Amino acid sequence: MKELQTFDVLVVGAGPGGATAAKRCADRGLQTVLVEKKKLPRDKVCSGMVMGKWALEIIEKEFGKIPRSVLTDPPLLAGHRFYVGPEIEDLEWPTPFSWRKDLDFFMVQGAVKSGAVLQDGVRVARMDADDGFCRIELHKEGTIQHLRARFVIGADGASSVIRRCLFPDLKVRFSGPIRECYQGQLDLPRDFFHWFFPKKLPRPRFNVNHKGDVFLIEGSGLKELRQEIGESLSPYGFDPSSKPIRKDGCTIALLHDDLLSGAFNPANGNVLLTGDAAGLILPITFEGIGSALKSGILAADAVVGHFDDPDVAASSYIESLKPMLKTIEKLCKTQEELKTTARLGAGPLAKALCDAYRETLTIQEG
Ligand SMILES: Cc1cc2nc3c(=O)[nH]c(=O)nc-3n(C[C@H](O)[C@H](O)[C@H](O)COP(=O)(O)OP(=O)(O)OC[C@H]3O[C@@H](n4cnc5c(N)ncnc54)[C@H](O)[C@@H]3O)c2cc1C
Repeated sequence: MKELQTFDVLVVGAGPGGATAAKRCADRGLQTVLVEKKKLPRDKVCSGMVMGKWALEIIEKEFGKIPRSVLTDPPLLAGHRFYVGPEIEDLEWPTPFSWRKDLDFFMVQGAVKSGAVLQDGVRVARMDADDGFCRIELHKEGTIQHLRARFVIGADGASSVIRRCLFPDLKVRFSGPIRECYQGQLDLPRDFFHWFFPKKLPRPRFNVNHKGDVFLIEGSGLKELRQEIGESLSPYGFDPSSKPIRKDGCTIALLHDDLLSGAFNPANGNVLLTGDAAGLILPITFEGIGSALKSGILAADAVVGHFDDPDVAASSYIESLKPMLKTIEKLCKTQEELKTTARLGAGPLAKALCDAYRETLTIQEG
């Protein structure tokens, strides 16, 4: 029988978590393959803000300064604006702003320059244990191929197939945000990210942002807020009868409770999960680029540091995630407190939201 091609590490998914993990493994001399189901550059339903403390620091350290061509127009947001009923609060926070297809491709190119082999347009369909290795089934344009790897890093996002193979009994709840893209612009400052809370509650919410010659309306509550979106945005020139030029959506895996209770630990033996696959998206803002980058680094370091002992690699990775889990725990509490503050009225809620978003942006690990 033909020998299967064998890598030290197979990274599934070329988002921020996968690009960082692949680069780091390749930089440290491991034979690394990065497998992405879509043809690159690929877009992702995401606002593309490099938001929190972790994110920009890691990108610049691992990949260098983000080139101007990777950023959109405007390239840098001045901050966030919160609308709760008639109340408006501003949080000034300079934020690099991108289309994800450009940001992620910039990072993938960095991984390739470091020696990672990229296979895009290739979907991982399943993974089995294979005598201390992982055997991975790949689907490409109607053909099926197999590869072996000593380690697999599952950076394959919220609907992770690697998570499903590793923890088939884990019950995952999902939310399903929608993104609508409209031609033109609204009479709102382009360099602010606009968060609307029309029910005067922390959720449901929607946001509006401008990129180039389009504006986007995004959020998990788009369906239930259709009327409120029209009412909230009409004063800014939005025509509720207008049709988006593009509409898409994605999923968010809601795994915070499972992570914090220990019911779900995102690694087992020679398989480690990062970013959204591991449920590490942050509460409140639901920013996840930073935690994907950070967990990509931690997973790669665990693999590099314990290459000969997968069980130790997995447990050291889980241990290294603890400060991030503490951060998530703290933000979950703040998220609960927002519900109580909402009872005090629109003014106090607008202020509390502004403070809570600032907390996600400034919080240190642990
Ligand atoms: C509406 C919205 C707005 C957001 N805005 C922001 C924001 O402004 N800033 C921020 O920090 N976060 C934001 N987030 C969160 C952020 O998008 C994610 O947390 C982040 O993309 C997670 O990165 P990741 O590397 O874990 O996974 P992803 O970026 O999802 O990458 C996973 C990759 O794996 C690939 N893949 C999946 N399955 C397979 C398979 N079987 N085989 C091969 N490849 C596969 C996918 O195609 C994808 O390229 C937003 C999320 C949403 C929904």
